[in-house]
Amino acid sequence: MKVVNLLATVDGEKCRGCKTCEKVCPVLAIKVENRVAQVDVERCRGCANCEQRCPDYAITMVKREQPLLIKVDVEAVDYGQVESLCRKAKFNPEQLVCYCTGTRAEEVAAAILQGARSPEEISLLTGARTGCKVECIQPILRLLEAAGIKPEPPKDGWQWYGRTITAWEVPEGVKKKYASRGFYFDEDIKLLDRVVAAPLQGRSDV
Ligand code: SF4
Ligand code: SF4
Repeated sequence: MKVVNLLATVDGEKCRGCKTCEKVCPVLAIKVENRVAQVDVERCRGCANCEQRCPDYAITMVKREQPLLIKVDVEAVDYGQVESLCRKAKFNPEQLVCYCTGTRAEEVAAAILQGARSPEEISLLTGARTGCKVECIQPILRLLEAAGIKPEPPKDGWQWYGRTITAWEVPEGVKKKYASRGFYFDEDIKLLDRVVAAPLQGRSDV
């Protein structure tokens, strides 16, 4: 969940239409038209990525007149399916997957079950990946993959990248090689498995 208080605004006099902002927006809310960037007010999640990257300082974040509440309704889908998708992706449903916005794995799973098919659509529905935008792409890609979805990166975009391997996928040869150097992959996996399988704290119906 995210309360969006800010909105990106573009100074048309300063904008050169370079499209850098388009490429870094996690929800595809800014587009260059007629050589000037235009912000989709309803889509903008106030992350300031565009403002921070604009080489001409043409973007300013302003306070929204009315804050936007971004929240996916987990109750609108079968929670059994939410739980099963999370555990398949090796997350506990109640695990935080985006620390900036406090988004849980169950919210991302619910967004996927409600039809989200890409990181951009998930970010739009949940608010995840509109904070630092560094950590949360991986859990989002893992949950999409567990749902059998392989999203294509946005055309001309470079705001997200491929999935990195998890502890469960480290090859045996690598484990052996680093065992004597203070790496404990198998112990890590045992601990992570306990997190994934831990009973849910916040629900009495599952
Ligand atoms: S990054 Fe700045 S200059 Fe480039 S298109 Fe966007 S607003 Fe315009
Ligand atoms: S990058 Fe962030 S602040 Fe800029 S338009 Fe996209 S969502 Fe809004």
